[in-house]
Amino acid sequence: MNIVILGPPGTGKGTQAERISKEYQLEHISTGDIFRQLLKDKDSLGVEAYEKYWKDGNLVPDDITIELVKKHLKNKENYILDGFPRTIPQAEALDQFAKIDLVLNIDSSDELIKERLTLRRVCPKCKDVYGKDKQPKEENKCDICQTELIQREDDKPEIIKDRLVVYRTQTKPLINYYKDKIININGNQNIEKVFEDIKEVLNDSN
Ligand code: AMP
Repeated sequence: MNIVILGPPGTGKGTQAERISKEYQLEHISTGDIFRQLLKDKDSLGVEAYEKYWKDGNLVPDDITIELVKKHLKNKENYILDGFPRTIPQAEALDQFAKIDLVLNIDSSDELIKERLTLRRVCPKCKDVYGKDKQPKEENKCDICQTELIQREDDKPEIIKDRLVVYRTQTKPLINYYKDKIININGNQNIEKVFEDIKEVLNDSN
């Protein structure tokens, strides 16, 4: 089964995708993580994506992102796509090279999204995520590898505003695009409850 997980930034998509991946043995493919890895490796595509677009809360152009995902998904089955598609042209392209069975849409109120993004801290080493629903045991240290946690540049308040505008104008129309396979999940709940709701849906669809 191939799943797309949609939702505004800060709604817990990545956290839920990770859990779904473990519970249902699906590969978690996150375009944000792919771009972050490219940047870390000082790959020119990753550096350009960061400097020109993502640093300011903008999307990387469709042609670049589509090519990247197409290469990544080649001969793959059984995955959960997190952060892609984010525009209608991306969804149309995806339909050409993959078969998506189900789309989960996790939505949360604007207030909660802003709060979650502002409080989010990530481990630069093992990528563990902390914030409103999960605080580290030791202040600002990763529970897993004890690395100092950081705030993502694009989680700074001035950038959050722009990311939400980008979501509303470019990504939200996907809800209508996928209207035949979308299942809405209430993201205004704690992580555990959101995951329970998702499992109910996925167990029913199996
Ligand atoms: P994320 O962690 O998913 O918020 O992704 C971090 C950044 O990578 C985004 O702000 C975009 O600049 C870029 N990015 C990730 N996925 C996409 C996508 N599907 N289309 C365009 N840009 C993307």
